Amino acid sequence: MSGHIFGRSTRQSPPTAQTGDGCYIIDTSGKRYLDGSGGAAVSCLGHSDPDVRAAIHAQVDRIAFAHTGFFTSDAAEELADRLIAHAPDGIDRVYLVSGGSEAVEAAIKLARQYCLETGQGSRHRVIARRQSYHGNTLGALAAGGNEWRRTQFKPLLVETSHIAPCYEYRYREEGESAFDYGQRAANELQAEIERLGPDTVMAFIAEPVVGATAGALPAVEGYFRRIREICDHYGVLLILDEVMCGMGRTGSFFACEQDGIAPDIVTIAKGLGAGYQPIGAMLCSGKIYAAIEAGSGFFQHGHTYMGHPTAAAAACAVVRALDERDLLAHVRAQGEKLDAALREAFGQHSHVGDIRGRGLFRGVELVAERGSKATFDPALGVAPKIKKAAFEAGLICYPMQGTIDGQHGDHILLAPPFIISDDQIGELVDKLNTAISAVI
Ligand code: PLP
Repeated sequence: MSGHIFGRSTRQSPPTAQTGDGCYIIDTSGKRYLDGSGGAAVSCLGHSDPDVRAAIHAQVDRIAFAHTGFFTSDAAEELADRLIAHAPDGIDRVYLVSGGSEAVEAAIKLARQYCLETGQGSRHRVIARRQSYHGNTLGALAAGGNEWRRTQFKPLLVETSHIAPCYEYRYREEGESAFDYGQRAANELQAEIERLGPDTVMAFIAEPVVGATAGALPAVEGYFRRIREICDHYGVLLILDEVMCGMGRTGSFFACEQDGIAPDIVTIAKGLGAGYQPIGAMLCSGKIYAAIEAGSGFFQHGHTYMGHPTAAAAACAVVRALDERDLLAHVRAQGEKLDAALREAFGQHSHVGDIRGRGLFRGVELVAERGSKATFDPALGVAPKIKKAAFEAGLICYPMQGTIDGQHGDHILLAPPFIISDDQIGELVDKLNTAISAVI
């Protein structure tokens, strides 16, 4: 690659993004790309939202940054209040950071400090699920269960247990009800806690709807209620990672609302700043906060840019937009339309095995053969080829390989802006069809 940027790949020179126009990104050649995945489920308000831009300008004009070691800011205070107004039962405090991985690191460290300060010092183990992704920093990467991302860094990762994901299309058995399957999958957590020794287990972490690594994969009815029961029984903290699926993406402000449970700790990012600013947050229960308050009075953590006022001002404008423009109702309505359009185009396609998801968070799993659900040979590179073909056709989508085990399986993740119109849903599905036909 020319220039001095250390980009994502040394072999590719991406086009230069020049302007944003609603659901489109326009490059310096004038080519328009429909953003069918919000990058990676980030740009929920599209690329030219006037209110978010104005909020950033107004904040920068007053003060851009004041270190949280010395000050709080109106923007951070308002954002925390607005988030807690939407938060699951019991969640009461907001720790602002700059992205998803930082939010997950904070969650894991807070869980450990909570255990220490409540006299449970033997608890340190994290249980997570295979095929999850929690971020690329070492703590978050260790928690994640995606082999492709972990393999080369394994010697650096703390030991973490991984149980199976709740993946109905692949693992529900013939004759087993969805509910029974979910209970069976959840009970793996109980078995793993028992195997490790209940007084050593600190937390279980999961994405309510698995994003990048499994393609918008929700759990079946009852799964997370059973998970919550098991965590309560053993005194294990439940951390939900809503970095991708939270902030309205699935049609409810927090994704776990639809599973009927509340976590002890929840992480958000991506849609929180909607791409206008880098920001994430770790939210915890009042009970955890009270334990720290009654103990050391100090969470031994921190980053220079946590609670950044400009980022917080942008996120405030995003939350205001969700509330005041009734965008979650639009996510639910457009999500149903996107699902219907995908089923119409690909429901009978001989290489589409499953179409799934919630709200404007949808996944299409590709197969070599529908009956046997056989996957394509990973060497064919079906997902990356579809990404390239779609991009050429003017569509940004998020295909990945390794859907099943980090190696086998291909899926396409779709997470368009919440402002997507009916015509743009049609354009998205048409362009995706063009890309899939060009590759398979
Ligand atoms: N958690 C989940 C569920 C994610 O999808 C991601 C990113 O894709 C992360 C954490 C890490 O977030 P970031 O890339 O902002 O560090």
